[in-house]
Amino acid sequence: MTQRAAIVSALVVLALLVGGRWALGRGPVDTILVEPGPGMPAASASASPDAPPPSPSSTPGHKPPPKSPKPPKGTGPIETRRLTGSKKIALTFDDGPHPVWTPKVLDLLRQTGVKATFCLVGTEVKQYPALVKRIVREGHTLCNHTWHHELDLGTKPEAEIRANLEATNREIRRAVPGAKIKFFRHPGGMWTAAAVKVSRDLGMTALGWDVDPLDWKKPTADAIRTRVINQARPGSIVLLHDGGGDRAATLAACPGIVSELKHKYGIALLR
Ligand SMILES: [Zn+2]
Repeated sequence: MTQRAAIVSALVVLALLVGGRWALGRGPVDTILVEPGPGMPAASASASPDAPPPSPSSTPGHKPPPKSPKPPKGTGPIETRRLTGSKKIALTFDDGPHPVWTPKVLDLLRQTGVKATFCLVGTEVKQYPALVKRIVREGHTLCNHTWHHELDLGTKPEAEIRANLEATNREIRRAVPGAKIKFFRHPGGMWTAAAVKVSRDLGMTALGWDVDPLDWKKPTADAIRTRVINQARPGSIVLLHDGGGDRAATLAACPGIVSELKHKYGIALLR
């Protein structure tokens, strides 16, 4: 009996080693491998294969999303709107529309009776115009987030910035004729004076934010919720993402965020 147990243990260790090698060769870059050490008892090592992978992908087959935003650099003297102008808080969702996450975010907002602002990427609008229609139909606000999430757009000549923003607005209005697009948000918050000027010329307010839980870095839902609640103050504009990647954690954080912010400050649409 003890001999059989020893053989089973040896097989488990062998399986882990082989499994680990296999995962090492093909796993995603951020896969954390737990390989049993020489002295590790088989009993504790056998717990690891059943653990879920660190970052499961829930969007198989979806094309690569636009680049994730980078943290804002030097806000400087450039004027962007960072507060709502009242006690109430505004929620903003960037980088969509996304075929998986945007409908789920919209469902949640509808269930909780909350309106938000969606900062849309032109190339995604072109692919998923029905989602833009739904965003508008359900009373949310639209924001231009460039044609293809160009982080350096603000550094380009004014004519190029203008052409980019106009193309994005055109695509949004192709989905929803006559749609009002009140805001422009520069990708990554990498504003320049030229980007602010052009967006103003086109009738859009430069939309910043006050609360950033860095959800695009894929922290846990708990971390996202806690960061938002801790950073929020009267009039905060909250930056979240419904596109650009797997937003399961953001979505999971949203019910807690919405109920807490609603209770403490109220949530209002940006005007
Ligand atoms: Zn973005």
